[in-house]
Amino acid sequence: MTQASLLTDDQEPIRVSVLLPMPFDMPFDYLVLPDSPPLLPGTFVRVKVSNRPAIGVVWDSLSGKSGKILPLEKLKYVDDVAPLPAMNEELRRFVDWVARYTLSPVGSVLRMCMPAVASLVEVPERTHFLLGVVPESLRLTPARQMVIDLLSDSVPRTASEVARLCGVTSAVIKGLSKAGALTSVQIAVDAPFPQPDVTITGPKLSNEQETASHAIRTKVQEGGFETFLLDGVTGSGKTEVYFEGLAEALKQDGAQVLVLVPEIALTSQWLERFEDRFGVEPVVWHSDIGAAARRRAWHAIANGGARVVVGARSALFLPFNNLAFITVDEEHDPSFKQEEGVLYHARDMAVVRAKLVNCPLVLASATPSLETRLNAEAGKYTKLILRERHGRAVLPEMHAVDMRTDAPASGQWLSPVLVEKIKQTLTTGEQVMLFLNRRGYAPLTLCRTCGYRIECPNCSTWLVEHRFKRDIQCHQCGYVAAIPSNCPECKDEDSLVACGPGVERLFEEVNYLFADARTAVMTSDTMTSPRDTARMVQQIADGALDIVIGTQIVTKGYHFPNLTLVGVIDADLGLRGGDLRAGERTYQQLVQVSGRAGRAEKPGQVFLQTYEPDHPVVQALLSGDGEAFMDAEGRARARYHMPPYGQMVGIILSGTDLAAVMEQGRVLAQAAPGVEDVAFMGPAPAPLARVRGRFRARLLVHTKGKVAVQRLISEWLASTKAVKGVRIRVDVDPHSFL
Ligand code: ADP
Ligand code: ZN
Repeated sequence: MTQASLLTDDQEPIRVSVLLPMPFDMPFDYLVLPDSPPLLPGTFVRVKVSNRPAIGVVWDSLSGKSGKILPLEKLKYVDDVAPLPAMNEELRRFVDWVARYTLSPVGSVLRMCMPAVASLVEVPERTHFLLGVVPESLRLTPARQMVIDLLSDSVPRTASEVARLCGVTSAVIKGLSKAGALTSVQIAVDAPFPQPDVTITGPKLSNEQETASHAIRTKVQEGGFETFLLDGVTGSGKTEVYFEGLAEALKQDGAQVLVLVPEIALTSQWLERFEDRFGVEPVVWHSDIGAAARRRAWHAIANGGARVVVGARSALFLPFNNLAFITVDEEHDPSFKQEEGVLYHARDMAVVRAKLVNCPLVLASATPSLETRLNAEAGKYTKLILRERHGRAVLPEMHAVDMRTDAPASGQWLSPVLVEKIKQTLTTGEQVMLFLNRRGYAPLTLCRTCGYRIECPNCSTWLVEHRFKRDIQCHQCGYVAAIPSNCPECKDEDSLVACGPGVERLFEEVNYLFADARTAVMTSDTMTSPRDTARMVQQIADGALDIVIGTQIVTKGYHFPNLTLVGVIDADLGLRGGDLRAGERTYQQLVQVSGRAGRAEKPGQVFLQTYEPDHPVVQALLSGDGEAFMDAEGRARARYHMPPYGQMVGIILSGTDLAAVMEQGRVLAQAAPGVEDVAFMGPAPAPLARVRGRFRARLLVHTKGKVAVQRLISEWLASTKAVKGVRIRVDVDPHSFL
């Protein structure tokens, strides 16, 4: 029987609008029977989409705003309510907000709030046994007696637990159950999370730490929206300070807190510190947690059982119902910008969510982004400063190595000065970190005979040799091939040579120069699981390693007291082919790397190998005057109305047919509206002209003043003809220009 046939003649079904977690830019109408209980906005419901089952959320607005109201007979009925806690008004408004700002389909944003929803619905229940009434007549074998003794403590246990603990077969349990000696209950298997202990007190804070902590705690107590910029040098105790804010929030009944960290900063060390301070592990959220862990966390966050969540950017879309405090640690970190799907910046959107929730927020960094600095200067954010490292630790001494005069021998990458410093450091039993942000052995392999460079068949990139794994890889699309012995072009034998250094090549050089040192490479290739990573980190902390060679993965969140020398192999790397943030990003990254040196009693030294020792970034690092550098950077951007003084929007076109992609670009450019203070640039082939077999072109919109850029762009795109087979993506506030 269909639901429609349940209607009497004078009844009309009721429309509800349901937003689906799919790339649609509005909710769709569905029907419910007039006498069924009302479906309030936020309710999760099961519906059919093109005859496939789906779960959506009842949304506030009817789809009518698109101007297309479908007649009732075209609509389908809601199947039923899905067993998930309703999405609150605040999160719904957040979804709408993010969609409007990023010009993404609102359904795609909703999808981030309900990851793998099918698995969220099924909280499995399992049969557990308790002691029932043991009949007088029951013959009590020793096996039966053991089970009865075990269960007399009133703890429900599954059949397999009972069987294991008593060493009995399942037949024994079945027999007892049949006789009524055992009763059964169904229990959801997701265990609750242990609650943080707010009675533990943190360390005694220094004066400047206390001033910052006091400001944050006071606001957390008062409640209400306020953004703090916690600007403190590396090792100044920013983490301790925002922990105090967390502790204050957790004292409030049921209050929840969220800490966003760059994915790679979520280290075992951070988690241990958290555990020391709050007595339990936090609830962890990132893209790699398994389905069961994800379901457990998601439900606990919705029902309030999870009080503290630490996660990567996607944690921002979790269904908190009682959020009282947010921290974004390393707020300047580029990984907060999501570069696929919905292109959003988690730091910026965290500010929006805090505002909608009406709670305070801390943005912490040793090198705040220009965006955040500008907001602090404008008085929108409250600035809290930590000038000194904690305790007796001082900031490391910075040195430049001029590679034009102090060059390494040909085919080597360590300058004589740095080699000498490494030697000295090892003699004193201290540790060395060498930083080179390049995975693999060499970034480029070319043929000495014909000059051919090994390229990815799918992308306009060079393949990177990975000697540990004995292959060559594309870092864009993941293409892997064996290292050829002959040149693929001219077939010459043994003519291929590796060009430039990667960490594996540096490892070779270090092993040759310091054969006795215990050296390890830390990259995403060697740290493939949290356990591997934790083990390596422990080895460094225990002094079982002397030299660590790493990519940016080692730059964040670690505290190695005995590490006193940091060598930056190529300080200019981030500046090459630079976009508008190249200087800022390089500066931030090198401050982070340098910040690993001398974090405890022993002072640290940093050596920056550079071909441009006079570059403002290098000069800023040497002088330690980051303020002046960022001010100058800000002035330069202001002069040309670059972000954050003006706004940019990238339009990325892609498709398998290059001509179609360029045609779409021309169509868009021709239709560009003439608006004062807005420039439309392009189309031009993207620097990454091909990825995964798709050709790419870019346009860039640049606004100087206050322009409602979202409206301008959506009207522009809506007014132009779509060329078949071309995908158009909009990137509001782009960070990547590739
Ligand atoms: P940041 O987050 O600014 O890099 P951390 O919070 O990691 O700094 O602090 C650096 C080190 O100093 C950590 O080991 C931390 O436990 C310690 N520390 C900071 N402040 C204090 C304090 N007030 N008392 C004791 N130890 C502290
Ligand atoms: Zn590729």
